[in-house]
Amino acid sequence: MTDPSETLDLGDLDSAEVHSPEPLSEQRAEWIGRTLERLSHSQFRSKFRLSAKDLTYTVDKGPETIDRHAHEMLRKRVGDAFPLKDGKQTPWRGHPVFTAQHATATCCRGCMEKWHHIPKGRELTDDEVDRLSALVMAWIARDVMRSEAAHED
Ligand SMILES: [Zn+2]
Repeated sequence: MTDPSETLDLGDLDSAEVHSPEPLSEQRAEWIGRTLERLSHSQFRSKFRLSAKDLTYTVDKGPETIDRHAHEMLRKRVGDAFPLKDGKQTPWRGHPVFTAQHATATCCRGCMEKWHHIPKGRELTDDEVDRLSALVMAWIARDVMRSEAAHED
């Protein structure tokens, strides 16, 4: 998954927090806010929205279940040092976490290296899986709110 317009975003990268060990939850919330803001400047990333089916599924299952799925999918599909079919392992649709992964650049190791400074060629740590799951969940929560707001018009 590459998109030439994303090279423009490289100037925004803040590498400082990437090297800090075990971020506090407050730091993590701050990182999520900053990362969602950075992603919103990418034409490619910002066009993703949950489908009506995904929205229903998300609300029906509830946040704990979706969060568990996010952990499982990140661990299983992008967590290995050399994931299977890397760059093509994340479907465009079929589960809210898939769509959120494309929107948050957690879809493959190439996007993760570019956007989140996580080097390719090594397994993700548990902390990284937690942090990226939290990003995915924050994006999903925001998209649910956005769709609810849109329906009130
Ligand atoms: Zn990708």
